[in-house]
Amino acid sequence: MLVAGNPIVDGLQGLRVQSVDALPAFVPDDDGANLPQHPQVPGHVWLRHAKQVNELIDRALAAGQGVQDFPTAGLRHRVEGIRRCCCPCHAAIVYPYGYVLEGFVCHHLYSGSMPTPPVPALNELLAGAHVVSLPMRVKFRGIRERESLLLQGPAGWGEFCPFPEYGDAEASRWLASAVEAAWQGFPAPLRSVIPVNATVPAVAAERVPEVLARFGRVDAVKVKVAEHGQTLDDDAARLAAVRLVLPEAAIRVDANGGWDVPAAVEALTRLADVGLEYAEQPVPTIDGLAEVRRVLGAAGTPVLIAADESVRKESDPLRVARAGAADLIVVKVAPLGGVRRALDIVAQAGLPAVVSSALDTSVGIRAGLALAAALPGLPYACGLGTVSLFDSDITTDPLVADDGAIRLRDATADAGLLEQYAASPERRDWWLARLRRVHALLAA
Ligand SMILES: [Mg+2]
Repeated sequence: MLVAGNPIVDGLQGLRVQSVDALPAFVPDDDGANLPQHPQVPGHVWLRHAKQVNELIDRALAAGQGVQDFPTAGLRHRVEGIRRCCCPCHAAIVYPYGYVLEGFVCHHLYSGSMPTPPVPALNELLAGAHVVSLPMRVKFRGIRERESLLLQGPAGWGEFCPFPEYGDAEASRWLASAVEAAWQGFPAPLRSVIPVNATVPAVAAERVPEVLARFGRVDAVKVKVAEHGQTLDDDAARLAAVRLVLPEAAIRVDANGGWDVPAAVEALTRLADVGLEYAEQPVPTIDGLAEVRRVLGAAGTPVLIAADESVRKESDPLRVARAGAADLIVVKVAPLGGVRRALDIVAQAGLPAVVSSALDTSVGIRAGLALAAALPGLPYACGLGTVSLFDSDITTDPLVADDGAIRLRDATADAGLLEQYAASPERRDWWLARLRRVHALLAA
C-alpha cells in the first residue's frame, strides 16, 4: 500500500523502462550483477539506479491507487502500489501481470523481491481451516450439498473447494488461490461495482420464472444447456421461457462441452433465434471449439464462442487464444491459481474475459470480484451471482447481487454459520487429508 513519506528509494540514478512488446525473460541490472537475494523470476524486470522512480512515486502518491499517466514511451501505467524494498536501494516494476489492452499498459509496481509470498506452513493452514457443507437450492453439477474448506489467514479468508473428483495436481491451483486471498490479499481495484448475470440451471422450462425471481433485476442471464439426458427441445423451451420473462436481457448459454461439433452447430443455429450473447464451451475440445466457431461464422450465425473448461482445465490456458478457438474466455480465479495469475492469463490471451465462479461461498466470490475489479476492461456481466443458488452462506453479509450487480466488499466467515454448517467428521477428515496432500504438492 502507498504510504506518504515512506522512504522507498533513495540515491538512485537512472531508470530503464522496457516496452512490454520487447520484454525479455529477465533483464540484468545495469551493472550486470544480479543481486543474489533477488531471485531471477522470468518476466520480471528489475529497475535499479532509478532517479525517475521518485517521479513515479510522487505521481502514485498524488493519485492514490488506480490508473494514471506515466510518460514513459508514451505508455499509460497502472500502479497497484509501491512497497518498501527489501533492501534500501531498489525499486522494480514487475511485469508478469503487465499487459497491453485497449491501448493501455498495466503494470504492477513493486519494490519487493518476490511477487508471490511463499506457501504458508501446513500447520498455519490447518490452524485456520474450517470444512463446511452447504445445502443448494437446486441441483448443480449433480450435487445438492456443496462442500468447501475455508482458510483464515492474516490477509482474510480464502476458499479451497475443488470438486471432489479433481486430482491433487489440479486442486493445487485452487489452494494457491485460497492462499493468495488469505495470506497475500488482492490487487488494487479499478471499479467497485461488478455487474453479474443470473444463472438458470438445466431445469424444466416451467421452473424458469421461479429461478429467475430469486435474482431480482437481471440484465444478463446464463442458461445451462446440453444437460445429459435432456434434448435440444428441452434447451429451446428453457431459453424461450427465459426470453419470455426477460425480453431485453443478454442471454448466454453454457453447454459445458456437452455437444459434439455437429450437435453444437445444429443447436446453436436453432438457439440463436432467441438472441444469444455468446455460447460457452459448446464442445469439449479446443479443436472442436475452433471448428464450431468457423462453421457458425461461415454460415453467418451470430453466436460468439466462449471457452471455459478449455481455459481452466488445460495445462496451457493460452492454447485457446493461439488456436483462434474462441471470441472470449471465461476465467475463474480458483482453477487458474489466483487473481494475479488470472490477470496474467487474460492479458496474454488478448481476448475479452468473463469472470465467473466455481460455485463458491461468498469467500470464493470475493476473489472473483477482486479479479473483475482489477481487469482493465469488463465488457460482460460476470458469473459471480452464484451465492443465490445456495440455501445459506457462511457470512452474515453474503456477496449477492443487488440490482444486477455486486458491490465490492470483503467476505468474512461467521463463527456461528461455520459451526452450523460444519461438515461431518468423516468429510472433514477427507478434506483435511486432501489439504495435506495438496499443500505438499504446492510447497514442493
Ligand atoms: Mg462454463
